[in-house]
Amino acid sequence: MRVSVLNGPGDVALVEREVPRPGPGQVLVRVASVGVCGSDTHYYEHGRIGSYVVEQPLVLGHEAAGTITEVGPGVPEQRVGQRVSIEPGVPDLTCEQCLAGRYNLCPDMRFYATPPIDGAFAEYVVTHEAFAHPVPDTMSDDAAALLEPLSVGVWACRKGGVTAGSRVLVTGAGPIGLVAVQCALAFGATEVAVSDVNPARLALAGELGATTLVDAREQRVGDLDRPPQVLLECSGFPPAIGDAIRALDRAGRAVLVGMGGDEIPLPLSRVQERELVVTGTFRYANTWPTAIALVSAGRVDVDRLVTGTFGLDQAEEALTASRRDPSSVKVVVRPQT
Ligand SMILES: [Zn+2]
Repeated sequence: MRVSVLNGPGDVALVEREVPRPGPGQVLVRVASVGVCGSDTHYYEHGRIGSYVVEQPLVLGHEAAGTITEVGPGVPEQRVGQRVSIEPGVPDLTCEQCLAGRYNLCPDMRFYATPPIDGAFAEYVVTHEAFAHPVPDTMSDDAAALLEPLSVGVWACRKGGVTAGSRVLVTGAGPIGLVAVQCALAFGATEVAVSDVNPARLALAGELGATTLVDAREQRVGDLDRPPQVLLECSGFPPAIGDAIRALDRAGRAVLVGMGGDEIPLPLSRVQERELVVTGTFRYANTWPTAIALVSAGRVDVDRLVTGTFGLDQAEEALTASRRDPSSVKVVVRPQT
């Protein structure tokens, strides 16, 4: 099979590898679509993210969907032919965090495209049967792949306690911000303000249902008519994070999704005086059933985010699309083409 590997910063190449065989409890998936994430682009440009360093050829891509073509021992044969969305992290299922249901915090997590675990820029991948989630035929391959970033939005809304009538502020209208806007609305939020410096992305947020658009080049999130109760921080831009936390209503919740470096200034007196809750998020746990339901019911549109499609031999173009084109939102790689 053909596989796209990252050899080091700025160096991706198409290579031939053996099709993997599914082990006990595993399925083999013929990959139809893989979303390109900012983390893939970061590995491509820098060869590392924090302490995760690319030291041997790494297959990128962790937002994947496809069709099961083979099952390993112990997996029902009926699963062959099933279209599935792949949840890219498989925890050990036995540690204290896993047993508490917080499997996203499992210290033994094996996550696609995180060194040394290979991802899905490949014609075939294997995964644990429970992490290959069946999707309905009405859902496109791209949408099935983008259930992964959608899961980040679902998890952020859960952590933020978004519910009917919530006033929500989303900072950053990139792919994650745009799914966060849609998730907040689907969770029942009635006011969803979104801020960004990119007018095209703001306009798309408006089309997807955001009720207030804040052009951060000339407006401030502190000037909203009513203070938001929940912040879904998706920009990772330290000055924006501080301003947004200061804008929160009393007893508000700030959910930090975007990655903005190791340390940022925190408006601590505001956090104390208003009893704000500030939390991080790390990936997600048990979000696929919700994500599948939201897309199937038409409550969330992830196909709308796709601005480019590439073949496996165009991985480099796919990884640099967001740099080259400011109107690019989400690109996908289709490994069978
Ligand atoms: Zn575990």
